[in-house]
Amino acid sequence: MTVAVPPEVDLFVIGAGSGGVRAARIAAGYGAKVAIAEEYRVGGTCVIRGCVPKKLLVYASRFAHEFEDAAGFGWTVPKPSHDWATLIANKDKEIDRLERAYVANLEKSGVVILRSRAAMVDPHTVRLASGETCRAKHILIATGGAPTVGEMIPGRQHIITSNEAFHLPALPPRVLIHGGGYIAVEFANIFAGLGSAVTLVCRAGNILRGFDEDVRDHLRAEMERRDVMVISGETILAVEHSGACCGVRLAGGRYLEVDCVMYATGRSPNVTGLGLEAAAVKLAANGAVAVDKYSRTSAPHIYAVGDVTDRIALTPVAIREGHAFADTVFGNKPTAIDHTNVPTAVFSEPEVGVVGLTETEARERHARVDIYKATFRPMKATLSGRDTRMLMKLVVDGADGRVLGCHIVGEGAAEMIQMVGVAVKMRATKADFDATMALHPTAAEELVTMRTPTARYGLEAAE
Ligand SMILES: Cc1cc2nc3c(=O)[nH]c(=O)nc-3n(C[C@H](O)[C@H](O)[C@H](O)COP(=O)(O)OP(=O)(O)OC[C@H]3O[C@@H](n4cnc5c(N)ncnc54)[C@H](O)[C@@H]3O)c2cc1C
Repeated sequence: MTVAVPPEVDLFVIGAGSGGVRAARIAAGYGAKVAIAEEYRVGGTCVIRGCVPKKLLVYASRFAHEFEDAAGFGWTVPKPSHDWATLIANKDKEIDRLERAYVANLEKSGVVILRSRAAMVDPHTVRLASGETCRAKHILIATGGAPTVGEMIPGRQHIITSNEAFHLPALPPRVLIHGGGYIAVEFANIFAGLGSAVTLVCRAGNILRGFDEDVRDHLRAEMERRDVMVISGETILAVEHSGACCGVRLAGGRYLEVDCVMYATGRSPNVTGLGLEAAAVKLAANGAVAVDKYSRTSAPHIYAVGDVTDRIALTPVAIREGHAFADTVFGNKPTAIDHTNVPTAVFSEPEVGVVGLTETEARERHARVDIYKATFRPMKATLSGRDTRMLMKLVVDGADGRVLGCHIVGEGAAEMIQMVGVAVKMRATKADFDATMALHPTAAEELVTMRTPTARYGLEAAE
């Protein structure tokens, strides 16, 4: 059904992803007349080709280890086999359902959905692909980001990104993933769990740049134990196609033959062709739309939220920013977003959950830092026989005992860190953690039972 383009609105949102949809609905709830334009599918990256389909694939991949682990508990499991086509079809059905729910919720809120690309032609006018225009009192840029692949790399046409990974016709027997960030690591584990032979090539000295060094080392060792080959300090020179295979030439001279090459080397803000100049919206040095703490751009009535601003590229952050924008502009409640202590996870195998400062960051910012660290064999591994260890780490301000960071690698880490995030946000101290009764037998109890620091920094300065 074609929807008529309203000639004038209070708010025009460009991009119906996590941030844009939330902003549109909340603004409409305040009585604003709102239109939203989407060039691909309503729901955006998270719902259509990000968090949600990724987590469904993660669930699928983890059964492999569950089947293996079951034997030690007395189960006899016939040799399992996996059907990629069934997984993808079921995943697609769920994504379609979610997209319909997003559309229904927008419509229920009275938001006009325009299924088109949109760009600004002057500070108050948005033009759709049809050439029709709409005048807006306020414009919200919520166009997200897109995967980047070096355009110059020979064989570029044979390389896929996470976008295509969700729609591969079959599970590739051998996959090479280039990148060391969380998307690269997650897909390495997904493919490995489903049965592919996986090589992860990253430019940095280790995976997960920006994470705590112990987390990086621990996860890498765990992945290698699960037969993911990690090659660090390397980069791809060229990808050559021969028959059904790809030959990958690395800068260090190695040549690898695989069936699929995926790049997860980063994402860049979707700003091309948006008409930013015509609307007097400025970019920051990193190519993202520059905004203040209220998400306002250099044009006072134009705002931007989510990945296009490249603050913290996570769904809950985009949603918060979108909500705060609507409160600020249409709800008469100026709301700035606090981007500190945002809990985050890597849905690898095993999982990573972190919140707050890494040990390195804490030592740069605080005079005294105490580290509490434990690695142990999780109880489930005793009978399963799996060779795995869990990591728990607390980074504590040695002066006042405040917990500055928490880092977990192991089963359930993401679920745990969501709740640890509450304590860290409330400025809980190590003494608060210690005063909390342990819940036995869990892995999480380790967080409240680590008594002695494994390292102390800055003591001399305090003495
Ligand atoms: C593989 C993957 C896994 C991820 N996993 C997680 C996770 O586990 N947890 C987490 O928190 N985050 C995760 N993310 C990040 C998360 O998806 C993003 O942070 C989030 O979607 C950002 O929301 P947004 O509203 O800024 O942009 P998006 O959700 O990207 O929405 C932007 C929308 O704008 C549309 N658009 C762009 N330009 C135009 C235009 N000119 N006209 C009309 N429409 C336009 C796009 O089609 C898109 O639908 C993941 C991302 C990826 C790629």
